[in-house]
Amino acid sequence: KIRVRFAPSPTGPLHIGGARSALFNYLFVKQNQGDFILRMEDTDLDRSSKESEENIKRSLKWLGIEWNEGIDVGGPHGPYRQTERLEIYQKAVHRLIQEGQAYFCYCSEEECEAERQELIEKGETPRYLGKCRNLTEEEKKKYEQEGRQPVVRFRVPDNHTVTIHDLVRGEVSFETAGMGDYIIVKSDGIPTYNFAVVLDDADMGITHVIRGEEHLSNTPRQILIYDALGLPMPQFAHISLILGKDRSKMSKRHGSTSVVAYQEQGYLPEALVNFLALLGWAPEGEEEIFSMGQLIEKFSLDRVSKSPAVFDMEKLKWINGHYIRNTEPEKLKALAIPYLQEAGFIGAELDADESAWVSLVVETLRNYLSCLEDLKERLEIFMGQTVRFETEEARAILQAEQVPTVVNLFVAKIRDSESVTADSVKGILKQIRKETSLGGSQVFMPIRVALTGQMHGPDLDKLAAILGKEVIIARLRDSAA
Ligand code: GLU
Repeated sequence: KIRVRFAPSPTGPLHIGGARSALFNYLFVKQNQGDFILRMEDTDLDRSSKESEENIKRSLKWLGIEWNEGIDVGGPHGPYRQTERLEIYQKAVHRLIQEGQAYFCYCSEEECEAERQELIEKGETPRYLGKCRNLTEEEKKKYEQEGRQPVVRFRVPDNHTVTIHDLVRGEVSFETAGMGDYIIVKSDGIPTYNFAVVLDDADMGITHVIRGEEHLSNTPRQILIYDALGLPMPQFAHISLILGKDRSKMSKRHGSTSVVAYQEQGYLPEALVNFLALLGWAPEGEEEIFSMGQLIEKFSLDRVSKSPAVFDMEKLKWINGHYIRNTEPEKLKALAIPYLQEAGFIGAELDADESAWVSLVVETLRNYLSCLEDLKERLEIFMGQTVRFETEEARAILQAEQVPTVVNLFVAKIRDSESVTADSVKGILKQIRKETSLGGSQVFMPIRVALTGQMHGPDLDKLAAILGKEVIIARLRDSAA
């Protein structure tokens, strides 16, 4: 049975890159009806927090990535938080020390840093040169009496080549020569990532480790531990880095980096999942819109790219716009309400009029949104006291001879009508055409531009109904004069 895991360090909110790793694991394992394990790698005590753990879990659930074993749900290989597994690591460390495959190192951080600097100056790879590799009992005692807290280092075999058979990158080899004996237990007794991850993946029966390329250089260090302890090795798949459009590492400059930020801006989980799936994976054919179910069916590690994925914000907006347009109206309305409340367009408790207004807003503007937060901006363009003209061309429309007549008639009829609805506006526009004998666009265009400052946009009758009597009259006062 295939078993994968997502093993975030709870040191911040779920990142786009982490979410993509989780998703690829999820798609792969669902396709193969395996188990998806969620494990918290919280050995960085200073930076880990409960808050981050909660954020990660919430974001995964929001995306629709469910785990059937691990944190919160339990399972036969728990506990699933590394700080609760210290005994397991201690046992293994003890064994490695006994066998001479690991040793206590008493060098201070400053001493190690000085050694690294010296190597850099000589043009060599900075590393630990093994000063404590063969300490006698007396030397150890002496260091301990000095009050030095040892770390445990793994004895890296000399001149050995470690080869990874990566499911994405093919064969990748690393030489142990420049590696140096690395730390597996810190001086406070907490294991390092490269050590704990091996014991956990082995203990939890993980068959496939699918993770970001940034971990590729850790993998040989982990493989050496598997070998040293004689543990069964999973298969590895390293998925490529996510870069910004300028080809530098994805950062805040390129767009929000946390999943929750997209949720807050009104991206839909289906859209983000669709977008993340295409970051480094491409199905056959041109189609780009896929539901989770379709992704599970189509995903394959064979089609995961070796080259970096580029985070294209415009594409995300386009995909999200697609999902917004295709969301069932009532559902979209429910999603939109908090954004309209936040922007102050409606109150905390909706009355019937407000509810109808929201329905109209959602129905009319849904085609113009790339995220729900856009509602605010869209409405503000239309709702303010003064009209902002999009272009000079738009402004010029209002210079036509018939404009004052048309606009004055419209204002008068709106003022006289009891309520402004899409239907009543439609009727008014028809009447004006009749009374003036003008063509459709000679009536519609000036009113559209006078009302919105724009030459294109949502249906005029619906838009007018959204604005309502007062706003229409206020906005048209200037151009009618
Ligand atoms: N805790 C590691 C991280 O968050 C997990 C890496 C791995 O999947 O092995 O980057």
